[in-house]
Amino acid sequence: MPNDPLRLADRLDGISSSGIRRIFELGAKLEDPIDLSIGQADFDVPDPVKAAAIDAIQRGDNRYTVTQGLPELNAGIRKRLERTHGRAPEATLITSGVSGGLFLGMLCLVNPGDEVLVPDPYFTMYDVLVRLCGGTPVFYDTYPDFALDVDRIESLITPRTRAILVNSPANPTGVVYPESSLRALADVMERRGIVVISDEIYDLFVFDAPYFSIASVYDNTLVVSGFTKTYGMPGWRVGYAAGPQALVDKMKTVQQFSYVCAPSMSQHGCVAALDVDVEPYRLEYRDKRDLIVDGLRDHYDLVAPGGSFYAFPRVPERFESDVAFVETCLEHNVLVVPGSAFSARDTHFRISFAAPDDRLREGIDVLNRIAAG
Ligand code: PMP
Repeated sequence: MPNDPLRLADRLDGISSSGIRRIFELGAKLEDPIDLSIGQADFDVPDPVKAAAIDAIQRGDNRYTVTQGLPELNAGIRKRLERTHGRAPEATLITSGVSGGLFLGMLCLVNPGDEVLVPDPYFTMYDVLVRLCGGTPVFYDTYPDFALDVDRIESLITPRTRAILVNSPANPTGVVYPESSLRALADVMERRGIVVISDEIYDLFVFDAPYFSIASVYDNTLVVSGFTKTYGMPGWRVGYAAGPQALVDKMKTVQQFSYVCAPSMSQHGCVAALDVDVEPYRLEYRDKRDLIVDGLRDHYDLVAPGGSFYAFPRVPERFESDVAFVETCLEHNVLVVPGSAFSARDTHFRISFAAPDDRLREGIDVLNRIAAG
């Protein structure tokens, strides 16, 4: 028997396309759905950002940038982090989206057989990236309140544990970890010699307390963040990594041999983005959060999101699963995502409140009618 020339690498075993995509496909068949499934902002890129990118294209800045990313962008991010984290990172690197930073970070940290602690529920990319690196995701359950239970996390640590992923504000729950939990987690990770990968992509959309990063108190933290969500620019593919010099330097080397650099015109746009005040958007999303929490309170068990633009309510008991519930929502022209796309459990669903208020109100009405039976 000849070899199958298209046999795929073993590392792809068990990796299939995201559960969210299937809902998008079903939703695509609906006419004018109330779409509460989308994981991106509902505002357009701010004008000064567009203008800076257009300028860059016009004046011929269309070549590779240095692997590290534009020096002025790195400098701006460093300054911002110094302000928000209370100290400057040792090194920064501009990446192709936050995904680029996550992937490079894991490639540099995870050996085959290593374990990486991943929250459950989690952003769908985490477990796949760990597996692609030959690692094993070990999930730390955060139900029912999606808080960090540091004792529970510590009980999962083994000699193979290499890293822990932390995501605050979180996708899909919107939960923001308080400073006290992050300090307690930092203590354990320091004692056990484990690196923290802190995904801070929603850091500017925090509603109820000042943002606190674990990088403020734990040196062995790799921060990945970017412009995707908080500036409404997911298609521009710019993120950044910040952390210990030795790690970020290696990520830069791997970037040199893989992504090369983030898109140059996007990077020029992001330099301008650093001067754009996203506070009006933050306030708008805080109001949308209030609308959702107040609107669903009577019929849904929901942990109030402290940030991002997601909420993760429990599926009403009469439904046998999250998928059954989401299918009923589809029949009523509402798109939401089953929790099992983000979790080992199938008891919740994700709402994105990055939608116009009138659509949110319509969505809330339909969801309440469905819950009431
Ligand atoms: N991390 C989280 C928590 C996210 O929600 C997303 C986007 N959905 C990403 C990373 C990926 O971001 P990017 O598009 O910048 O690669």
